[in-house]
Amino acid sequence: MIGVLGGTFDPIHFGHLRPALEVHECLGLRELRFIPSHVPPHRGAPVAAAGHRLAMVERAIAGVPGFTVDSRELDRPGPSYTVDTLRSLRNEIGSDGPLLLIMGLDAFASLDTWHRWREIPELAHIVVARRPGSSIPEHAAYLELAAVAESRSALEDRASGLVFFQSVTQLDISATGIREYLQAGRSPRFLLPDSVRRYINEHDLYQPDTEDPQ
Ligand code: ATP
Repeated sequence: MIGVLGGTFDPIHFGHLRPALEVHECLGLRELRFIPSHVPPHRGAPVAAAGHRLAMVERAIAGVPGFTVDSRELDRPGPSYTVDTLRSLRNEIGSDGPLLLIMGLDAFASLDTWHRWREIPELAHIVVARRPGSSIPEHAAYLELAAVAESRSALEDRASGLVFFQSVTQLDISATGIREYLQAGRSPRFLLPDSVRRYINEHDLYQPDTEDPQ
């Protein structure tokens, strides 16, 4: 089974990496692909260029068995829709293998606002990484289209169309918070891998009063 985790990764941090590792382990994934997305430019936001965000993911996952990075969304001009990315992955891996789209509970709850979200069940399963003890949103619109899988093996038996709730350790870390620390001249140490912190320092990313245009 292949899992994919999309995000801006601006920068990638332990709040992404630890839940990803737990999903990878608990579901016995063959591969977990991080897919950095385009960031819509908004004024005043210090956002690292796509090449830097990709390089930081590469640094973060270096040496982690089964973790890979996929630059297809950055290789296409403009923002990509998840449904198009899933279709392009599906074309590559064929129609039989399970493909898992990993997301947090918040994203899952608002999935019905995504572009062509009704097509997702024919393309992938969804794995919702949730904090242990958090309640499952039984009335989420997506659950009208997709059944809840009770076990990992149910995901293996079909290529797409199920939802699985996976408890993971959640760390209250955000990329926004990390950028704010850096902007204030504070250290982001212990919130992200040292390799990523070094990359940020080497390339002067997110520094006070600097902008890194896309
Ligand atoms: P920003 O603060 O810039 O909005 P972010 O830290 O939320 O960024 P994204 O790259 O937007 O990171 O997130 C990618 C994916 O990872 C999303 O599905 C998001 O819900 C999830 N995610 C981000 N931070 C955490 C966290 N601390 N714990 C669990 N999931 C997270």
